[in-house]
Amino acid sequence: CKFDYEAPADLLRDRIVLVTGAGDGIGRAAALAYARHGATVILLGRTIAKLEKVYDEIEAAGGPQPAIFPLNLEGATLKDYHDMAETLDKEFGRLDGILHNAGLLGRITPFEQYNPELWDQVMQININGPVWMTQALLPLLKSSADASVVFTSSSVGRKGRAYWGAYAVSKFATEGFMEVLADEVEHLGTIRVNTLNPGATRTKMRANAYPGEDPQTLRTPEEIMPTYLWLMGPDSKGCNGQRFDAQPPK
Ligand code: NDP
Repeated sequence: CKFDYEAPADLLRDRIVLVTGAGDGIGRAAALAYARHGATVILLGRTIAKLEKVYDEIEAAGGPQPAIFPLNLEGATLKDYHDMAETLDKEFGRLDGILHNAGLLGRITPFEQYNPELWDQVMQININGPVWMTQALLPLLKSSADASVVFTSSSVGRKGRAYWGAYAVSKFATEGFMEVLADEVEHLGTIRVNTLNPGATRTKMRANAYPGEDPQTLRTPEEIMPTYLWLMGPDSKGCNGQRFDAQPPK
């Protein structure tokens, strides 16, 4: 159990870590926490103003200078991912971690009424984008002595639930892809690939999914950071192909 993990202040010192969806919610909290523990964070997202705010917060806190990488996973192409790899290679020469966090809920609705365009959009952002981004970035991960790739899952990616449609399916696919990639990189011994389910967390996405719920009853993104730090840092070395939770079961 890593819920109470106390990360040393220099846990991620000299590490280059990419966080997708870094402008809001859990991704924002992770970017700030990683920077606070010494990482140079690459802030990826689709709303530049939000990324700039996180950038400023990191600078104000005295963290290592971050980088902003604007990208909308919805329209991103293979070329975008390869251009991104080239830019990061030039700038940093390696990548020590990726937190695949950006995600889209889509709609909670009976499958009979699920809109096919929305289905494709959710699959694009939640699984296809992260898959091709990871393929393009693999050479950079291989250049690291100790790289951690974390995919964000959900409880509905481990047990299906009525009305969760493409979101649940995308998270099941995320779990499956994690296992495939983890098995492929196992022999390298320098890259680990795992999934992390944040659990119910006080963000806009959660409020959209459960409009009747009192957000004050939920943990904040900051409160679930211990597991996010543990899985990104060297203390989780040796853990590969596993499914983790950021909160204890209720
Ligand atoms: P939020 O909606 O608060 O944040 C999602 C982030 O992803 C935002 O920064 C958003 O950018 C970004 N994003 C969305 N679409 C795109 C896109 N097309 N291209 C680039 N970035 C995009 O969600 P959470 O913080 O709650 O969720 C983070 C992760 O945790 C997701 O993968 C979610 O599925 C998962 N999760 C969350 C739970 C919860 O209770 N909150 C529970 C289980 C899993 P922008 O701000 O610009 O829209």
